Amino acid sequence: MRLRQLALQCSLIASSAFGVLSVAHADTVIDNARGYTLDAKGDVIEFASLAFDDQGRITAVGTAREVANKAPRAHHVDMQGRTVLPGLIDAHGHVFGLGQMLTELDLSGTTSLQQALQDVKGYARANAGRAWVRGRGWNQENWKLGRFPTAKELDAVVSDRPVWFERVDGHAGWANSRALALAGITDQTPDPAGGKIVRDLDGHATGVLVDAAKGLMEKVLPQPTEQEGRVMLDRALQRMASVGLTSAHDAGISAAQDKLYRDYADHGKLTARIYAMIGGTGADFDQLATNGPLDSYGHDMYALRAVKLYADGALGSRGAALLAPYSDDPHSHGLLFHSDEEVNFMIAKAMQKGYQVNIHAIGDASNRQILDAFARNIPVYHTENNRNRIEHAQIVTPEDIPRFKTIGIIPSMQPTHATSDKNMAEQRIGHQRMEGAYAWRTYLAQGSRIACGSDFPVESPNPFFGIHAAVTRQDAGGNPIAGWYPEQEMSLKEAFRCFTLDAAYAGHQEKTLGSLEVGKYADFIVIDRDLFKMSPYDIYKTAVLETWVAGHPVYKKK
Ligand SMILES: [Zn+2]
Repeated sequence: MRLRQLALQCSLIASSAFGVLSVAHADTVIDNARGYTLDAKGDVIEFASLAFDDQGRITAVGTAREVANKAPRAHHVDMQGRTVLPGLIDAHGHVFGLGQMLTELDLSGTTSLQQALQDVKGYARANAGRAWVRGRGWNQENWKLGRFPTAKELDAVVSDRPVWFERVDGHAGWANSRALALAGITDQTPDPAGGKIVRDLDGHATGVLVDAAKGLMEKVLPQPTEQEGRVMLDRALQRMASVGLTSAHDAGISAAQDKLYRDYADHGKLTARIYAMIGGTGADFDQLATNGPLDSYGHDMYALRAVKLYADGALGSRGAALLAPYSDDPHSHGLLFHSDEEVNFMIAKAMQKGYQVNIHAIGDASNRQILDAFARNIPVYHTENNRNRIEHAQIVTPEDIPRFKTIGIIPSMQPTHATSDKNMAEQRIGHQRMEGAYAWRTYLAQGSRIACGSDFPVESPNPFFGIHAAVTRQDAGGNPIAGWYPEQEMSLKEAFRCFTLDAAYAGHQEKTLGSLEVGKYADFIVIDRDLFKMSPYDIYKTAVLETWVAGHPVYKKK
């Protein structure tokens, strides 16, 4: 659907039918709702009725009578007692990654290597015209393989074309021999700094490239054309609207993606607001940062005022940087991507230009490196109010957790990572280090605001999966029964807040988004059950019936 077209149609109807009185008639009232939102203090309040003007700004919220008094000649939409919530915000996702996953082969549902190989074979056959066979989502843990898969195994199903599949966490990739040859990777190729070419006991490269080693392959991968980028963005926006996301923070975009976002905003085609982070401080940053941060573009549909950096890899591929060795690999501490000097240089470069700095840090060593770097640079560049963030903050030494509060760093966390990682995480770091792992309650207790997200496409973009995981510490299968380290559970109110108001805060947007209050945007969703009166164990079953952005429906469930 096209927002601007819809807006245009509505105003045309209003002006032709009511002439000069059209301004008053442009108001819309959502009636007979079982509405929940947050007030400025973060308390959950109920409403039955909501009015907004033709700009999509809320003009009244409250009981039917209160709203009717303030918008007497409005067009009414009867919600028939259904539950209405503020639109949900994903504070960390990869929009084009989601779009790519929706257009390439997704292996995330496979439970064995055999099944994955069958899927690759079938997909390659059905897509004979594609020069590369690509996709993502594999996880050797789910295959109970006990090792990485190999190029030879891929060769057995596709050998005529290069094959490249990213691991579910995006921190490793699996190639066939054709792709390895195209990338020039031989047994003699050294591991690049911050990366690893997985090898067998004889030193032969076996086909999996971890972290920076993925760069060797990425250099030879064909870049998506603009048309392919549009298809990816369309698919991602459709999926986001269908799960109730009215806003997402895109964790690392290129100059080409920025161009597409602006184009979509110009043409009223963005059906979710995008708060984007520039990926890195390299050439794209130099190009995009010429005029400094873009606080708002296209009627507040797009913003580009943050930079995304990486401090380490992921836990699953043992790329996360730990202070002490991995519990299941005593020879490895994982990898810090950059020296302290390099980190300081990148932070300084972004802060000098006025950007919020959001840094991926998974392990306790990378979190410490980044906290140290923030503590050092924030006073120098006077960026105390920039709401700088650590993305994931997954494993943090308990003594470092209070520093998020004292330095003023927002932990940007993904509840479904905890419930997806739970078995693997404990193998990797052992019971002792779990105290500071996925420790939402500890952050909330010290007064930190957590920005919640999913890291889609690593996890599903469905925010109800995230709220469910945050509240129950269980996966959608109900495991473990008592919840995984249940002392770290959030309350429903807290989880709701982390996916709305606090996610908006993490993007400097809490004055316009995150709750349904007068003056804010009418970004809201209609769901099929009452979130605040149901069993928390069923939250993941919630279905979105309608999604509205700036007072316009962008999704209706068929
Ligand atoms: Zn991410």
